[in-house]
Amino acid sequence: MTTVYLDNAATTPLLPGVINVLKDVMTKEYGNPSSIHKMGREGRTIIEECRKLVANQFACSIGEIFFTGSATESNNMVLLSAGMNDRMKNIIASPTEHPCVLNTVKFIEKKGWANCHWLRVDEKGYVDMDHLEELLNECEDVLVSVMYANNETGLVQDVHAIGEKVKAHGGLFHCDAVQAAGHFQLELKPEHFDYVSMSAHKFHGPKGTGVLFMSGDSILPPLIRGGAQERNMRAGTENTHGIAGLAKALDLSYQNLNEWRSHISSLRLKLMHGLQDLRDDFKFYGDPGSEDLYTVLNVGLPDHPKSEMLVMLLDMEGICASGGSACSSGSQQGSHVIRALNRGKEQPSVRFSFSHLNTAEEIDYTLEKMKKIYE
Ligand code: PLP
Repeated sequence: MTTVYLDNAATTPLLPGVINVLKDVMTKEYGNPSSIHKMGREGRTIIEECRKLVANQFACSIGEIFFTGSATESNNMVLLSAGMNDRMKNIIASPTEHPCVLNTVKFIEKKGWANCHWLRVDEKGYVDMDHLEELLNECEDVLVSVMYANNETGLVQDVHAIGEKVKAHGGLFHCDAVQAAGHFQLELKPEHFDYVSMSAHKFHGPKGTGVLFMSGDSILPPLIRGGAQERNMRAGTENTHGIAGLAKALDLSYQNLNEWRSHISSLRLKLMHGLQDLRDDFKFYGDPGSEDLYTVLNVGLPDHPKSEMLVMLLDMEGICASGGSACSSGSQQGSHVIRALNRGKEQPSVRFSFSHLNTAEEIDYTLEKMKKIYE
């Protein structure tokens, strides 16, 4: 049976070059990077070379890059550490953040570690900058968390403007850049960002490997305590092969950025135009046509008996798409992002998300099946 994988915002396939690196490091470089013998030192060298590559890619210093076990962990590390250690009295976040930010913010509020304020967003999902200004004027000791590119709709926020505003008020700015890393050029400068999270498996690297950028001016106490790994910031034996795979995947993504971007953008446009030709009541979430995330197309579905079960019907045709974020698509709760954009109203939607490995033929196949389903 044909398989068309259009769920790359949930996770991406490993590239052959990344698999080779993983295999090599797993089989030959199994020494514990904390060991002082030759095998340990070799493992340490690999990790530090990868750190240098990541730091160079994002124009920050190597001391600002920490490897973690996932972006969920990176986000928790920032928010919980700031909450537990009295580094903030107020936390401001957008209601369209990923569940690993949303639920952590709610937990912090429940614990009484900070007051929580939700930003207003417009019908596309853009943060209301006047509301941000208002909240910043009202709040002291504040941390703001706004994601770079939304994982459900692909909307890209002006995180540089948000960061500048937050810093002008003396606040801390945390940005979940999971969907942007590997797809946009990012410069992690302290005038914009204090904390930025990323995840290897969203750009063809291995699962279970994340990055946290922590600006040298805003270092937080560790969340996971134990050994001295990651310069005392994240205890636990390092995932040497995962880190090597992450660095290789990042390198490949940026070496090929322009070529892959133009291919992916053309596929996304082809699907969007094809769907518009099929019916005029498909709605496109986010802000297609702007500088939004070219890997994601989120389609609001018409009031039609097939819409509620579209993800399943597509699956029966071999098409892998998603109905929300991977972390919530197993639940029956609908999407908190779509609800926030529709002022509380539910609308079934499907998220198609692409990589450079997708083809125009796969988009034709998807359009053919969409036509069959809605006919
Ligand atoms: N943040 C965003 C925007 C995501 O899309 C995801 C994954 O879906 C995460 C965080 C969590 O990343 P990880 O799978 O590395 O925990």
